[in-house]
Amino acid sequence: MSESQRIAVIGGGLSGLSTAYYLHKARPDLRIILYEASTRPGGKIQTLRDDFTCESGPNGFLDSRTEILELSRELGLEARLLPANADSARRFIFSCGTLHEIQPHPVKFMSSPLLSLKGKLRLAMEAVAPKPQGDDETLEEFGCRKLGREAFERLIDPMASGVYAGDPSRMSVKACFPRIYEMDRQYGSLTKALFAIKKEKRQAGEASSGPAGPGGLLTSFKNGLGEIIEALHDQCGATLRLEMPVIAIERDNDKFIVKTSTCADRYDAVVCATPAWNTASMVAGLHSPLADKLQQIESSPINVIALAFNREELSGGDTHGFGFLVPGKENRQILGCLWSSSIFKYRAPQDAFLVQCMVGGARQHDLASLEDPELVKLVREELKLSMGIEAEPIYSRVFRWSAGIPQYNMGHTQLVEELEALCREEIQGFYLTGNSYRGIAVNDCVVDAQRLAEEILATDKDSMETVNKAKK
Ligand SMILES: Cc1cc2nc3c(=O)[nH]c(=O)nc-3n(C[C@H](O)[C@H](O)[C@H](O)COP(=O)(O)OP(=O)(O)OC[C@H]3O[C@@H](n4cnc5c(N)ncnc54)[C@H](O)[C@@H]3O)c2cc1C
Repeated sequence: MSESQRIAVIGGGLSGLSTAYYLHKARPDLRIILYEASTRPGGKIQTLRDDFTCESGPNGFLDSRTEILELSRELGLEARLLPANADSARRFIFSCGTLHEIQPHPVKFMSSPLLSLKGKLRLAMEAVAPKPQGDDETLEEFGCRKLGREAFERLIDPMASGVYAGDPSRMSVKACFPRIYEMDRQYGSLTKALFAIKKEKRQAGEASSGPAGPGGLLTSFKNGLGEIIEALHDQCGATLRLEMPVIAIERDNDKFIVKTSTCADRYDAVVCATPAWNTASMVAGLHSPLADKLQQIESSPINVIALAFNREELSGGDTHGFGFLVPGKENRQILGCLWSSSIFKYRAPQDAFLVQCMVGGARQHDLASLEDPELVKLVREELKLSMGIEAEPIYSRVFRWSAGIPQYNMGHTQLVEELEALCREEIQGFYLTGNSYRGIAVNDCVVDAQRLAEEILATDKDSMETVNKAKK
C-alpha cells in the first residue's frame, strides 16, 4: 500500500483492534480508521470494575497459543498476565441432582459415578470405535460413535454448551474442534493420538502438558481481560470513531465507500471485523451473494448472570475449582457456572464468592429473553439445587448478548472457503475477520488478525510488483 493509502477497519472488538495493531506495527505510515458502533471498544470483552472485577463475556484465554502472549508482551502487559489458580484444574458436571468432579486420572475416572459401568466400558472401546463416514459429522454423531451415547450426553454435550452455547446435533466437529477432528482422522483413535503426541514431545525434549492439560492454562490479566482492550486502544495506531455504526459499504471504481448515518468516506481497503450477521447487512449492496452466505452463519443468544455471596453464608459445599457444566439431558435452565473468584485472584474481596452463570444458547433461546429479575431468580434456584446456595446475593449483574456466539454448524468450513474465494476473486481489497469464521475464541481472534494483516500487506506488495513489472 502506498503511503497515502487509507484502510477502514469496521468493528472495535478484539479482532478489529488487533488487526489495526498488526497493520500499524508493520506499516506505521498507513492511515487506519476504525469504526465502532458502540460507545466503547472491546466488543464482547468488557470488564466491569467496582467492588468486584467482573467479566461480561470471556474470562480468559488458553496460554497454549503464543500469539496472544507475544501481543501482551509487545503491549507492555507481560507483568499483568494472570494465570488461573491451580484449583481451577478441578471441573465438575451436574448430573442426576449432584456435582461430579471430572477425574482426569483414568483409574479414578473409572471409579467415579458419573457414568454407569456399561457407559465406562463403551468409553474404553474408543480405540476400536467405528470409522467415520463422510468428511464431517455433527458433534453428537462424533461423540456417540467414538465414546457411546452415555459418555456423549454426560461429557461431550456439556462441552458444547460450555464453549459454543451450541446444539451438538447441528455443530460440525471439523469446524468446532479441528484438532480433535484431525487427531481422529490421522490416528483413528483419540487415545492413540494422545500417546503418540506425548511420545513425540518426549523425543523432541519438550515437557508434556502439565496440570493444565493439552489445551493450556486459562490466563487473564490482573484487572481482567479489559486490560488488553485498553492497551490496544492506546497503541493500535488507528483513529477510532466510536458510536459510528457503519450502515453500508459500496464500491466506486477502485475505492470503497464506507457509509455511516452522518458521513461517507473513501478507502483503498476495508476490513470487516464485525460478526457475520452484522457484516451481511453492510455488504448487501456491495455484493449480494456474499451477504447471502454471511447470513447463513447463525448465532446463539447468551446471558451472563454474575452473582456474589458472602462466604460465611454459604452452606459449605465445594467452591474450589473452575465451576460446573450442565448436560442438556438434565433439562436445567443454566448451561453452566464459572466460579470466577476461585479461578482468578483479584476478582472479589476475600470474604466473597463470585460466580458467573450462563443462560440461553442454541437450545434455550427463550430463556435468553427473560427480564433481568427473572434471570437472577432462575439462577438462584439453579444454584440452590446444584450447590446448595440459599444466601441472598450481595452483588448481581446481568450481561445480555442477543447474538453472542457464532454457531459453526455442519457445512461451516465449506462456507468459509466460499466466502474467502468470493472476497479474493470478486471484491479485491475487502477482507473478513472476527470470530464468525475461523475459531470462536479470544486466541483465534488474535491469530486471525495477525494472519490477515500479513495477507493484506503481502497482497498489496504483490499487486505493486505486478504494476511495476507492467510499467517496465
Ligand atoms: C458470554 C461469552 C463468553 C465467552 N467466553 C470466552 C472465553 O472464556 N474464552 C474465549 O477465548 N472466548 C470466549 N468468548 C468468545 C470471545 O468473546 C470472542 O471470541 C471475542 O471477544 C470476539 O471478538 P471479535 O472482535 O471477533 O467480535 P466482537 O467482540 O463481537 O466485536 C465486534 C464489534 O463490532 C461492532 N459492530 C457491530 N456492527 C457494527 C457496525 N455496523 N459498525 C461498526 N461496528 C460494529 C460491535 O459493536 C463490536 O464491538 C466468549 C463469548 C461470550 C459471548
